[in-house]
Amino acid sequence: MSGLPQPELHKGAKFVFLSDWDGTITDQDSNDYLVDTLGFGAEQRKADNVKVLTGESNFRDMFRAMMQSVKVPYEECKDVLRENIELDPGFHEFYTWCKENGIPVIIVSSGMAPTIRAVLEKLMGVEEASQMEVIANDVEYTDPEGKGTTWDIVYRHPESGFGHDKSQSIIPYRSIPSRPTLFFAGDGVSDLSAARHADLLFTKVKPDGNTELAAFCEREGIPHVKIRDFRKVLALVKEVVGGKTTDQVIAENQ
Ligand SMILES: [Mg+2]
Repeated sequence: MSGLPQPELHKGAKFVFLSDWDGTITDQDSNDYLVDTLGFGAEQRKADNVKVLTGESNFRDMFRAMMQSVKVPYEECKDVLRENIELDPGFHEFYTWCKENGIPVIIVSSGMAPTIRAVLEKLMGVEEASQMEVIANDVEYTDPEGKGTTWDIVYRHPESGFGHDKSQSIIPYRSIPSRPTLFFAGDGVSDLSAARHADLLFTKVKPDGNTELAAFCEREGIPHVKIRDFRKVLALVKEVVGGKTTDQVIAENQ
């Protein structure tokens, strides 16, 4: 398969936590922020998202068009995001607890790794950020000088309609003998491919009440637990690590 290489699996882990980045670990979606403030704007973005949810267009082509509407040098985009994107209020504590308890936390994102790394460094500190695992798309600078005055997204899975098919980071774990319990957290259309492969799926409800992923799961009959932030994620992951089944946790949190 063409595209960016898939990292090694955490084969010995008993639990693996995979999470969307934008709007799940962060308070708002950084790509939406770029499009709304520097690109073609929120109205068209929301209309395009609906087309993906209804199957009229695919995420890959919609997202590239959104990014291409942002005609600002890439380094400036990084600065804008560093200034405006904040962490979910419970994430730092959640991440620290997972690290102390040997649970890999893997960020799987349809955004671009260099922007995620830039924001992570600001929010988690340079050293912590450097140890965090990020599976995302990349960026290429398309200006002749290679400075990023113009740029384009490089998809991890260019042949997939998702651009980055997040299910490919989760499905391989399912065939490991005595496989780990799999958690996934997400909020939006970029998470549709991964949603049905976790043992315990967390769907984030945004402060404005927007629940794209939860709405999709309800329509498709995919079990999930709605969360406002990672404080609840930490509490429920602790319950599973303590011995509860993921089915029990899902049933108790409807
Ligand atoms: Mg998201």
